[in-house]
Amino acid sequence: MELILNKEKCNGCGACIDACPFSALIMKEGYPEATEECRLCGLCVNACPEEAISLPEELKKKKRPIKKARDVWVYAEHRDGKLARVSFELLGKGRELADKLGQKLVAILIGHQIETSASRLIDYGADIVYVMDHPDLATFNENKYGAVLIPLLKKHCPNIFLSAATTRGRSLIPQIAADLETGLTADCTGLDIDSKSGLLLQTRPAFGGNIMALITCPDHRPQMATVRPHIFPKPQPIPNHKGKIIRLEIENKLPENSVKVKSFIKTETKGPDLSEADVIIGVGRGIKGPENLKMMEELAYLLNASIGGSRAVVDAGWLPPRCQIGQTGVTVSPKIYIACGISGAIQHIVGIQSAKTIVAINKDPDAPIFNVANYGIVADLFEFIPKLIEEIKKGKG
Ligand code: FAD
Repeated sequence: MELILNKEKCNGCGACIDACPFSALIMKEGYPEATEECRLCGLCVNACPEEAISLPEELKKKKRPIKKARDVWVYAEHRDGKLARVSFELLGKGRELADKLGQKLVAILIGHQIETSASRLIDYGADIVYVMDHPDLATFNENKYGAVLIPLLKKHCPNIFLSAATTRGRSLIPQIAADLETGLTADCTGLDIDSKSGLLLQTRPAFGGNIMALITCPDHRPQMATVRPHIFPKPQPIPNHKGKIIRLEIENKLPENSVKVKSFIKTETKGPDLSEADVIIGVGRGIKGPENLKMMEELAYLLNASIGGSRAVVDAGWLPPRCQIGQTGVTVSPKIYIACGISGAIQHIVGIQSAKTIVAINKDPDAPIFNVANYGIVADLFEFIPKLIEEIKKGKG
């Protein structure tokens, strides 16, 4: 498929060349010509003042008809039949979006012997739950899950489709977006509906977290977004909410996968799992070296807290990568986050912004962490933390 150029209309102004984000258009004998880099994104079509460029008809036909697209869909993740917390977080946001649009909230549950979870999804706001239950779907497999999901999405043409930005979501959802030829905004930190156009407004950090990009998907459906766990709060169940559970037969033979999952091995962690912890001690480069972690571990033990850290600490090998909090680590939402010797770079802050209370200990009064902290302590942590440990022990004793 190629761009179509109407040479009679083209005045050779070069606006299309300037508009191309892939530098895929070159000027040849006074007319633009697409090179192999062209992705048929259509930005040159919009930029042409003479309407001399158009997309091939086949491409236009492939668009999912926007008027037909309805409802907000959520892919509900679970582990061994237990719904993941993020599924509820997505339902809460999905309910809000569906209400703004006056549309239904639909949840999809895939696995084996999972049906008891369907009614919980209704309690948390789903109007319809599609259940795909089959022994071959017992273990997550992106090929098999994609094979059952894609035909369903093609049949119903959702307006919006949300999924968690977990390892599973990240392996499953892009192939669906590619198959449906629609856009996907990964790792959104905000979702809303534009009151004028009804479009999904998708916010996510860009350029290393230095700006927040607002992204829309005006021409294709569904509008797809993934959201990391803990970005949205877990909602309360909606009393007496009614919904319909629809069991779907798996008619087609599911594809074989070259990757065989033999078992899942849980990682051993000290203290509660970071993503579930009520109290987290965040350790930054200010602790100077791994030998000083002992002090932080003692504090964590006394507060029944988990230990996480900045990327600087993980890069230095003082903490394992699973402890990294932030844009390229985990997002946390504890009741209390105690940042010790962390400067407060934006890439770290995006991972802690849903913490209820942030306490920061830093010897630099101008450290940016104090801009987001509810309580700021300007102190040398090597003096402050031992005293704090002593006081807690006195209180406990
Ligand atoms: P520093 O910035 O070096 O801060 C150390 C702090 O300790 C200083 O504020 C200092 O005043 C204080 N201090 C020093 N000594 C003491 C003392 N004795 N007592 C008290 N305070 C003391 N970072 C993340 O954390 N998570 C991410 O996911 C992440 N992703 C990134 C993605 C990209 C694309 C990029 C470009 C960067 C990313 N970063 C991430 C890195 C981020 O920009 C910062 O470099 C990092 O967070 C800094 O870590 P820090 O605060 O521990 O170290």
